[in-house]
Amino acid sequence: MEKQCDICGKLLPATKEYFYGNKSNGSDYLYPRCKVCHKGRVKGWQKDNREEHLEYKRNSWRKNKRKYLEYAKKRRLSNPSSKIASNMRSRMWHVLKGASKSKPTMELLGCSIDRL
Ligand SMILES: [Zn+2]
Repeated sequence: MEKQCDICGKLLPATKEYFYGNKSNGSDYLYPRCKVCHKGRVKGWQKDNREEHLEYKRNSWRKNKRKYLEYAKKRRLSNPSSKIASNMRSRMWHVLKGASKSKPTMELLGCSIDRL
């Protein structure tokens, strides 16, 4: 059985020696282009569209920023250890905030107690 490459038009044996196959679905599916053309095409596309590709990546980040952040938030909530870490951080922050606030009060109190 032969297979024609849809890029160079060569008739080649329809085997995995000449065509890349798709192993994931377990069938004998082979790509419509030969290995040589497939390689050349991927390489050429990456070279020609490098800027475009980068721009696409940038755009997709911008577009999905909220999604990514929401996902990160969800992960924080579903991951107990990071939740504890987050809780600890906020508790520490409160303690520090409380301590810095209570110190002048204590000094004030101590001063007034001495006076009394
Ligand atoms: Zn070809």
